[in-house]
Amino acid sequence: MNLKDFLASEQGRAQLKEWGEPDFRLRQLNQWTLERFAASYEEMTNLPRELRQRLAQVASPFALEVVERLQDPSDGTVKWLSRLEDGHTVETVLLRVPERTTVCLSTQVGCPVRCVFCASGRNGLVRNLTAGEIMDQVMLANREAGKRVDNIVVMGMGEPLLNLEALVPALERIAFGVRHVTISTSGIVPGILKLARLAEEASSSPLSRNWNLALSLHGVDDESRARIIPPHHRYPLAEIFQACRVHREKTGRMLTLEYALVRGQNDSVAAQRRLAEIARELRAKVNLIPCNPNASVLEAPELRRCRQWAEELSARGVQATLRHSRGQAILAACGQLRQQWQRQRSQEAGG
Ligand code: SAH
Ligand code: SF4
Repeated sequence: MNLKDFLASEQGRAQLKEWGEPDFRLRQLNQWTLERFAASYEEMTNLPRELRQRLAQVASPFALEVVERLQDPSDGTVKWLSRLEDGHTVETVLLRVPERTTVCLSTQVGCPVRCVFCASGRNGLVRNLTAGEIMDQVMLANREAGKRVDNIVVMGMGEPLLNLEALVPALERIAFGVRHVTISTSGIVPGILKLARLAEEASSSPLSRNWNLALSLHGVDDESRARIIPPHHRYPLAEIFQACRVHREKTGRMLTLEYALVRGQNDSVAAQRRLAEIARELRAKVNLIPCNPNASVLEAPELRRCRQWAEELSARGVQATLRHSRGQAILAACGQLRQQWQRQRSQEAGG
């Protein structure tokens, strides 16, 4: 087990008591792990040596062991591939622009939704990440940045709303001081409604759970979404939109629609019009993502056409951004670094 999961568990707290540690010890440990981003016991200099040794026997100080670190020379984007305690790997990305730093988190090893163009979902779900494993991705970024990151986007590997059990406590423990948290989903209706409920409950407590929601739309009707998102975790659009309205009511947050532009699949003029209507109805902004061809045979329309989509949506009164792929040079689309690493390893093993 890693230290963050250990300290959050009944077992961990009982253990500290059993060792005769005073109550303030937990606060001290939380300071080291959450506020000073410590990744080793050596760093925790004001803790008794004996306690550090005892802790080292029962919990690893950090959930992640970085096995690859890539930096895009053009924009400072950093991407890590980290090994977890059981040998599985996850990706984390730090995006930097002069005004802010943003960390992009993974929530699962693999993904059960298996969208056709996505490298993360290629082999389905391996396992959920724990809260500690999610939190330590933020710590990795904080350590790199030398300060707390400004924004958190949950847009890495995995479907976050199928692992709310770990994601919610993780966000609650790390999100203080963070300006914005955005959770991206393929449209898991019960999860969206759960987030709305959590936000409502928190409005009467010091917790802030006004997290932004991004919906991966990718198609303007159920048929066109079906070409990209397989059926087992796909909900009817009407239900998804209803859940998004509830979420907006409870959080007051503007919805983002993500739309991966795929040549010949969802890029018709009719789809463009309908997307503008949907965005206006839901009062949402739109992120257009040219399909990254790395994981499948699907590809983006020409850049000129992608630009035209953004302009046309704007002309129809919708706030639309064409996401230029930051960190392209280091494979910033989710799941690709891991896929490449696994390929390399299996080649090494085979020959
Ligand atoms: N699982 C969440 C977060 C994932 S990644 C979700 O699906 O929303 C963030 C966005 O990148 C999603 O909209 C996802 O559909 C999209 N994406 C994944 N692979 C892509 C690819 N090859 N090209 C373009 N967009 C992709
Ligand atoms: Fe999972 Fe999101 Fe990839 Fe779809 S796009 S397979 S939901 S990670």
